Amino acid sequence: MRKPYLAGNWKLNLDQAGALDLVGKLREMVGQRTDVDVAVAPPYVYLPAVIEALKGSPIRVGAQNMADQVSGAYTGEVAGTMLSDIGCDFVILGHSERRAIYGETDKIVNAKVKLALDAGLDVILCAGETLDERQAGQTENVVHRHLIEGLAGIDAALSSRVTIAYEPVWAIGTGQVATPEQAGEVHTYLRGVLEGLWGDVAAETIRIQYGGSVKPSNVAELMAVEGVDGALVGGAALDADSFGAIVAFNS
Ligand code: PEP
Repeated sequence: MRKPYLAGNWKLNLDQAGALDLVGKLREMVGQRTDVDVAVAPPYVYLPAVIEALKGSPIRVGAQNMADQVSGAYTGEVAGTMLSDIGCDFVILGHSERRAIYGETDKIVNAKVKLALDAGLDVILCAGETLDERQAGQTENVVHRHLIEGLAGIDAALSSRVTIAYEPVWAIGTGQVATPEQAGEVHTYLRGVLEGLWGDVAAETIRIQYGGSVKPSNVAELMAVEGVDGALVGGAALDADSFGAIVAFNS
């Protein structure tokens, strides 16, 4: 049985006061619940304050990105070792916004995944097709490539530290959520890809989140889909009541 994993990706939003207000409320809502895993991914600069504010809470804290280098002359970058040094638990990698806006290739994503795992960070690896790719019947090819190339060279022994987020690009921030059938089809496909890559034990253990316009009103329906093990949430994670309601989908 895979424990549901609900993670909020704050992207380029909130200020420090808003971030602390949000996590203060979330901390109370989540309490010491152990039936779900809950995580937040604030902008880099708020990570130390959020980590401090969540000390003693089971809510995990992670970054939205990291460098594909260990150290050196890479102005503006933040290394995985720096994130683990300040107490981050995980990092989101391969988000479609990183791929589309910042030109991240699967090769770059793979370098980051390796460095993150080396640094002791868990990874949420995003995979998902654009609308054009879906309409061209390329969904499986695209998510297959995101997984196979993103996870290339990573030993099955590390699989328990990896979560996959299936995020159809056409559903991110659009309000156009995938149907349970669409999500279920891709999640089943992705689990098969993981089985081919790392074997059946790993494939049965790894959590695959759905991401794309998840809201309190649709989360229960999505979470009821076989193989959907959680959600990666953008817009609806910026408000304590709405993310709290998503986290409480099963109560
Ligand atoms: C995301 O950015 O990962 C995301 C799923 O965003 P939203 O929930 O706003 O669609």
